[in-house]
Amino acid sequence: MQEFIGLKVIEEFEAITKDAETFQRETLKKILTENGSAEYLQSLGLNGRTDPESYRACVPIVTYKDLEPYIQRIAGGEASPILTGEPIKTMSVSSGTTEGKPKLVPFNDKFIETVIQVPKTSFAYRNREFPIGINGKSLEITYKSNNSKTKGGLDVASVTTNIATSSQYKTSMKPIQSLCCSPKEVIFGSDFNQSLYCHLLCGLIFRDEIQFISSIFAHNIVLAFKTFEQVWEELCYDIRTGVLSSRITVPDVRSAVTKLMIRPNPELADLIYKKCKGLSKCWYGLIPEVFPNVKYIYGVMTGSMEHYLKKLKHYAGEVPLVSSSYGASEGWIGANIKPKLPPELVTYVVFPNIGYFEFLPVSDKTESKAVGLTEVKVGEEYEIVVTNVLGLYRYRIGDVVKVMGFHNSSPELKFVRRRNLILNINIDKSTEKDLQLAVEEAAKLLVEERLEVVDYTSLVECSSVESGHYVIFWELNGEGSDEVLGECCNRLDKSFADAGYVYSRKINTIGALELRIVRSGTFQKILEHFVASGGSASQLKTPRCVGPANIKVLQILSSNVVKSYFSTAYQ
Ligand code: AMP
Repeated sequence: MQEFIGLKVIEEFEAITKDAETFQRETLKKILTENGSAEYLQSLGLNGRTDPESYRACVPIVTYKDLEPYIQRIAGGEASPILTGEPIKTMSVSSGTTEGKPKLVPFNDKFIETVIQVPKTSFAYRNREFPIGINGKSLEITYKSNNSKTKGGLDVASVTTNIATSSQYKTSMKPIQSLCCSPKEVIFGSDFNQSLYCHLLCGLIFRDEIQFISSIFAHNIVLAFKTFEQVWEELCYDIRTGVLSSRITVPDVRSAVTKLMIRPNPELADLIYKKCKGLSKCWYGLIPEVFPNVKYIYGVMTGSMEHYLKKLKHYAGEVPLVSSSYGASEGWIGANIKPKLPPELVTYVVFPNIGYFEFLPVSDKTESKAVGLTEVKVGEEYEIVVTNVLGLYRYRIGDVVKVMGFHNSSPELKFVRRRNLILNINIDKSTEKDLQLAVEEAAKLLVEERLEVVDYTSLVECSSVESGHYVIFWELNGEGSDEVLGECCNRLDKSFADAGYVYSRKINTIGALELRIVRSGTFQKILEHFVASGGSASQLKTPRCVGPANIKVLQILSSNVVKSYFSTAYQ
């Protein structure tokens, strides 16, 4: 087995980031040479040129919509070189939470080769700060999707599943991977809720050996421990009796977990029971109490995950939170190389050899020109445009990032938001970030009532008779008084700072904001809906705005509204 030498990995990363410009040119050249025969590139008149200047002059900046017809042909089974030189045999499916439906994205071995450096590099920097023992275990709250097929017979799974199940990845990750306490049947289980319960049970069985807890996106850790609050007595009962709860009915999951429950273990059950009883009033510090050797909690904690940080910190007590890396089904981008930074301050350093990156300035109102990786300016916000081995050329990934500095010559990016304006009626432009800040501000009024916003989303409601208005949905962890929730509604309305919104509210061309409170469990139903329609539970992110095409999610939300309030803030 290959030995992992963290120092060497760090040195390599230092070297490539010191010469980011050269690596960018070489990476582009390699991508264009290997895929020169692809129909898409052939049609653009590059004629074998691989320099950035010719590339930018010939190839247009595109979105998923532009490439969809090509991707559909690949998915339909056409084997000719369409986007890549070598035919695509596998597809990844994105979570689909932003657009309402999962997107298909090409996947290939070359992609694995390039992205493997991300977890390795992240691990090298992380392990330098938080070393973990070789024989330790991890509690990974992860859910892999089983493969399905496209119309043309290509394998489809989530990108994380595609990567994690490849033999190439398994071999190169062996030296750094802790043993996951849950058997693979749990990870690949067909029922999300049953797998979640089993992850918790397996974690408790191996509680002394667990060195870190992780999930791809941090909200799954929060969801797991919220579930723990509800099922801990049942978990203790299972451990005490040595018999798995009858709620676990998926046969291979049941049989795999039963094998771990070698004997009734009343001592362990008593210990956990006592600890939970001591915590059950507020559950602060639940994680270190139940898993005494956990050194850190790991997962994406930036962007739309920021909302869950408060709850995660509550469960984590003093255990450090480490945000992982930054990527998408369409391409990996950067790693967090300062694992000790609190999630709110985390930046991701771009790998200059993982793809060719361009940046579209977002502040520029005119038709803005994309700049190269080393040309970005500190303090500016950009939309990322990627070119990589998946056959994506000058592809807008849909994220806005802010350049916070440089690590050597490669930029350190802070994730800001998804590109799409999410709430827009007339001249207003409220983004995902504006919504997040408004929710944070209004939720301050809940603190005295010991309430929290479990999750939230929004939509724009317009009817032919009234001016449109923003509708915000909140799920709370308890019942709020009408007085406080009415205040929250006003505070939400006042907290949208966009000048167009404020002006429109003042002259009433945008109606009063509406706060709708939904039943407990509503957002879990939304998650279950996405999983049922083919999304990967590990990659899910709550959609922060629900468009009219997202009919099922709209139905779930509207059928669970228990109270609603209209703002009087601008009266
Ligand atoms: P998916 O296509 O389902 O893999 O989702 C990818 C998207 O998740 C990215 O385009 C980002 O919007 C978001 N994302 C991934 N990593 C991070 C991160 N570290 N911080 C914030 N958002 C992230």
